[in-house]
Amino acid sequence: MKRERLGHGDVIAVDRNYVPMQEVSRRKALCSVVAGRAFVLDPATFDRHTVLEGRVQLIIFPHAQACAESKLLMGRLERRVMKRDHHICAYEGCNAKATTVDHVIPVCQGGPTTWQNLVACCLPCNQGKGGRTPEQAGMKLKKSPKGPRAHLFERFEEIIREASAA
Ligand SMILES: [Zn+2]
Repeated sequence: MKRERLGHGDVIAVDRNYVPMQEVSRRKALCSVVAGRAFVLDPATFDRHTVLEGRVQLIIFPHAQACAESKLLMGRLERRVMKRDHHICAYEGCNAKATTVDHVIPVCQGGPTTWQNLVACCLPCNQGKGGRTPEQAGMKLKKSPKGPRAHLFERFEEIIREASAA
């Protein structure tokens, strides 16, 4: 199902203004709640609730404020890029399983190692593209890579939509 594809088990942590900050593991979320640093949030009402059974999707850190996007680039960037792109090659006309992460603008041409310049890529596409930009290699991305903040907002909105539809 769609939920599975989006890699659930992860909980979105939001700040005091309900701005998504980052994804945390369910285990980490529950630890924060038990320690009193965070509260489970009901996505339908945004009310705190104390029920820890069932699926925890949102937790609120009442004392936190979301940090700049660059600070969200924590953890293993490549793993997160793979997850964002659902482990499928990001180049148009290819639906192969991605086994590598490609720099869209290659490092040798000054491309940075950032969320926006990395995409999941299959080995043949990556090797075919080599040290060229997609334009130089005559390749096109299916969609432009989004930063983690945009990705989080999408998931956040999806959770709210589902909760209000239920
Ligand atoms: Zn490919």
